[in-house]
Amino acid sequence: MPIRSPLLGENTRFDFRSSIREGSLRAAVLPVAATEQHNEHLAMHHDARSVELLTLPAARAHFPSVIVCPVVSVGVSGHWMDHPGTLTLSKGTFTSVVLDLLASLRSAGLTKVLIVNGHGGNRRPIEEKLEEWRAALGIQIEFCSYWEAYSAAFAKANTATGEIPGHAAEFETSVALAEFPGSVHFTDAPYPEAALTITDPTRAIDDRRFFEGARHASAEKGRLYVDHAVAFLVERLHRLLETDG
Ligand SMILES: [Zn+2]
Repeated sequence: MPIRSPLLGENTRFDFRSSIREGSLRAAVLPVAATEQHNEHLAMHHDARSVELLTLPAARAHFPSVIVCPVVSVGVSGHWMDHPGTLTLSKGTFTSVVLDLLASLRSAGLTKVLIVNGHGGNRRPIEEKLEEWRAALGIQIEFCSYWEAYSAAFAKANTATGEIPGHAAEFETSVALAEFPGSVHFTDAPYPEAALTITDPTRAIDDRRFFEGARHASAEKGRLYVDHAVAFLVERLHRLLETDG
């Protein structure tokens, strides 16, 4: 019996055990994201929602060979703690969580895992550990951030601001408008300079630019961005299934 659903949590232990035993289930996706400030208008679950909505259809394209784990929905977001509501894990805690999940997948009999990242702050901590994890677990572990799907030429041709991903700017806001518009809360209020204390001057400049850039967002653009990233992830999973670590 193959798995019943590409989402790990929707399967029973029987589904999982028999699909491993017959060899139909061959790889897992581990999505990692964040719950953090997304400027004035986007809900804080943005990264977690988007990495789930991108990995699920990519896994479905390889059904029943690939299963998607629950999103690790809090990441390394210490750089956004100027904005209350942001949740963060320390680098060490975050990478320990990821390692424990990889070890769980290995003990379940999976030998191929693609970690798909949806939050910039997670990238370095994971990249620094990849080799160590491969050596410790002896399984094939690949890693990508979904925005690797977009070339500079793509960004130039398909955005007004020229920026992908940015942060809560045109790109991310477009994805939310396309896929979960209930999480976009634009108002006519001006940029709330006086209410914010952003300690890093570069981040303060970016924050204002992203606030303005978000006004260029549209659901049409969002659908294009989503399709492009899903196609990229389908290809990454194809490579994972076809190659040996
Ligand atoms: Zn984001």
